[in-house]
Amino acid sequence: MPGTPHTMSLAVLKFGGTSVGDARAFQQSAAIVRNAKAQFDQVIVVTSAMGKSSDPRDTIKVTDTLLDSARAAAAGDDESFRKARRLLADKHHAALSAVVANADDRQRIGDEIDRLLSGFEVLCASVHVLGEVTPRALDAIAGLGERLSARILAGAIRSAGTLAEAIDATDFVVTSDRYQSAAPLMDQTTVKARARLLPMLHLGCVPVITGFIGATEKGVPTTLGRGGSDYSASIVAAALDATDVFNYTDVDGVLTSDPRIVPEAHTIQTLTAQEMSEMAYFGASVLHPLTIAPLADKNIPLRVKNTFNPSHPGTLITHTRTAEPSGSVVKAVTAIKNVSMVTVSGAGLKGVPGIAGRTFTAVARTGTSVFMISQASSEQNICFVIPQQSSANVVAALNAEFGGEMAHGEIDPIGTFDQASIITAVGLGISETPGVSGQVFTALGSVNINVYAIAQGSSECAISLIVAADKCDAAMRAVHKLTG
Ligand code: ADP
Ligand code: ASP
Ligand code: MG
Repeated sequence: MPGTPHTMSLAVLKFGGTSVGDARAFQQSAAIVRNAKAQFDQVIVVTSAMGKSSDPRDTIKVTDTLLDSARAAAAGDDESFRKARRLLADKHHAALSAVVANADDRQRIGDEIDRLLSGFEVLCASVHVLGEVTPRALDAIAGLGERLSARILAGAIRSAGTLAEAIDATDFVVTSDRYQSAAPLMDQTTVKARARLLPMLHLGCVPVITGFIGATEKGVPTTLGRGGSDYSASIVAAALDATDVFNYTDVDGVLTSDPRIVPEAHTIQTLTAQEMSEMAYFGASVLHPLTIAPLADKNIPLRVKNTFNPSHPGTLITHTRTAEPSGSVVKAVTAIKNVSMVTVSGAGLKGVPGIAGRTFTAVARTGTSVFMISQASSEQNICFVIPQQSSANVVAALNAEFGGEMAHGEIDPIGTFDQASIITAVGLGISETPGVSGQVFTALGSVNINVYAIAQGSSECAISLIVAADKCDAAMRAVHKLTG
């Protein structure tokens, strides 16, 4: 109709490791892309490296294998990376020959796989000679998995009858040089992504982009951190003003808890961005914790769906609070394992300004991030939770910081509880509904689980509790009963 503004629909589809884990998964994902192409004006695909296969004889997860090989090479092992190269070649060539119909295409992609895997062997051989592996080298090696899978997936999509081309995100996702968890530089990324992708989209071609990776302004390859392909998809979606993002994985959306621990976990129909961020931050590994942020700025909805059950509606994540089909206040339960609880206490804390500041400045100097903080109202103790592997460094930093006060008995020796887990109950109504923390305590008390500390998240839609590590799974199952 003349004069009616026409909004192009642009969908970004992200496929996780199991969605490209073997030939059957590649074909299934390619069929989903073909259907999306019929439904949306433009489609962009973002892919993970090949993950778990449905064939129990194939246990290789590509990113894990790449990283393990690099670390083994650094430790003096000259064999493992050569063996890994052969296994990776077999896994990728087996998928390629089953999913790409055209012989020339198959040959071309096969040559690229071999070229990338030679690069892997050369990098690992250098790491072996040097006897150490820098974070920068780890990123160059870890990112090869997505470069391999994107080429095969593009071939599979072409074989399903849709124009598609593999693209390395290092061409346009510009990041900081914080190797292993690089931060995207959105302004530069947006300009470059549009220049690279829009001409392809106008031709009706589906870009099949490597998730997980980017490059610094100087072009050095980086990664966004483990599980980072989800984040890649939302970075690309924000840069291109996508109208929809679909995150395809191996479960029916975001579940009320981790199904490997809580068998009765079930799909959550809708979540707000805030609830989803909180779940991901506090351990729901289904999405990378930073996935929501770029989408929130542009108000782009995200659906989490199952590649192997595509007719299931999955979970819709929106940026405004939607009218909820009224249910329980607690919508989900998550856990972070392998954490330590550190306590700074002593009479000298009471009424003395600046102790909290000095505590967290000392922690920050060790480069450790703090998951949660809770302070008793008596002001006599500050307690916070960190990854277990940082515990020794943090205690040393606090001993150095408070050595004087400790010598005078004003601050007690630093307390640590190393075998701990954080259990988090998430739900938008939690802060405004009286008695929810009581219900959580009662649920844990009824199975004799002790709570060592509690914190209400700053976002007001989560309560986190510390329990002993060996009680974590039972605690999740007990709190899960509150989800109704
Ligand atoms: P992908 O490779 O598709 O990105 P991931 O393994 O990263 O998949 O994430 C999906 C997995 O996350 C599921 O198979 C499930 O075991 C696990 N998971 C943990 N917590 C949840 C949750 N609350 N909802 C859904 N899946 C969860
Ligand atoms: N392949 C990467 C990883 O295993 C990124 C991802 O799958 O999201 O961490
Ligand atoms: Mg993932």
